[in-house]
Amino acid sequence: MKPPPFTYHAPRDLPAALRTLAEVGGKVLAGGQSLIPMLNMRLAAPGHVVDINRVAGLDGIEVSRAGVTVGALARHADVERAGAHPLLTWALKLVAHPAIRNRGTVVGSLVHADPAAELPAVLAVLGGHVRVARWDCGRVTFREIPAAEFFVGPMESAVGPGELAVSAFFPALEEGSGAAFHEVSRRHGDYALAGACAVVGVAGARVACIGVGGGPVVIDVGGDLSSAAARVRDAVDPDDDIHASAAYRRHLVGVLAERALRDAAREGAAARGA
Ligand SMILES: Cc1cc2nc3c(=O)[nH]c(=O)nc-3n(C[C@H](O)[C@H](O)[C@H](O)COP(=O)(O)OP(=O)(O)OC[C@H]3O[C@@H](n4cnc5c(N)ncnc54)[C@H](O)[C@@H]3O)c2cc1C
Repeated sequence: MKPPPFTYHAPRDLPAALRTLAEVGGKVLAGGQSLIPMLNMRLAAPGHVVDINRVAGLDGIEVSRAGVTVGALARHADVERAGAHPLLTWALKLVAHPAIRNRGTVVGSLVHADPAAELPAVLAVLGGHVRVARWDCGRVTFREIPAAEFFVGPMESAVGPGELAVSAFFPALEEGSGAAFHEVSRRHGDYALAGACAVVGVAGARVACIGVGGGPVVIDVGGDLSSAAARVRDAVDPDDDIHASAAYRRHLVGVLAERALRDAAREGAAARGA
């Protein structure tokens, strides 16, 4: 299949990209690993495509004590190699295949907001945020969208028309915490049937589940890990599809959440020397 016709724009800097988006709208092209298949399958037909790959300064990966800031053009593979955040690194190894990770971007995956994608769950469980820019009355303005408000529904994020997500911030794990991510997919590299990532610290535990709702489903487990699987199964709302029934997904996500919590708790205890 060939994509429907569109006008292609290749701005060289952020103001030019934002001006173009403000003037003509259209879709941002980052790694193209989701947008190009959608165009070719005619699931999207934007009149304009704004390719941000030549925009300078968007490929940074900045590490501080507070966490990791990933620019809009940082590829999955770059962030994985940087190894700057243990949970992000773990999750990235579960995303697709190396060829896709060489082009796909972390921020693009967040904006794409596939309910089965790993990175939205990582942002959600850590309580991170996405920084978004727009062209407003002749200047560039920014806003920060917390993870809890970012994932609006299946394939829908809070990035509005004319906006460009410029970076995402993943908070560092607190000292003495551990994290883990487990999922099951039909073939290695496929989107997961279901998955769960967990962060366990001295103050409590949180899980974010994928493939079982319209976006990442976050559950505060507190200190009681023994009832976590049941609470996770109560909180999720999976669908039936050709790959698995809702009942199977509900059961599976409980098992995976329990496993992720157990591994995260073990890692946290080791970090505390307990
Ligand atoms: C065979 C295959 C298997 C895959 N398996 C997985 C998997 O297991 N897990 C997983 O998480 N992903 C998977 N993916 C998707 C992959 O991770 C994509 O790279 C990712 O979803 C989108 O990133 P991208 O940079 O390619 O975005 P693009 O394809 O360029 O864009 C995707 C969408 O996000 C928008 N967008 C992108 N960047 C921005 C931005 N900075 N600001 C505003 N809008 C933006 C685009 O307009 C578009 O609507 C798979 C892809 C393929 C082809």
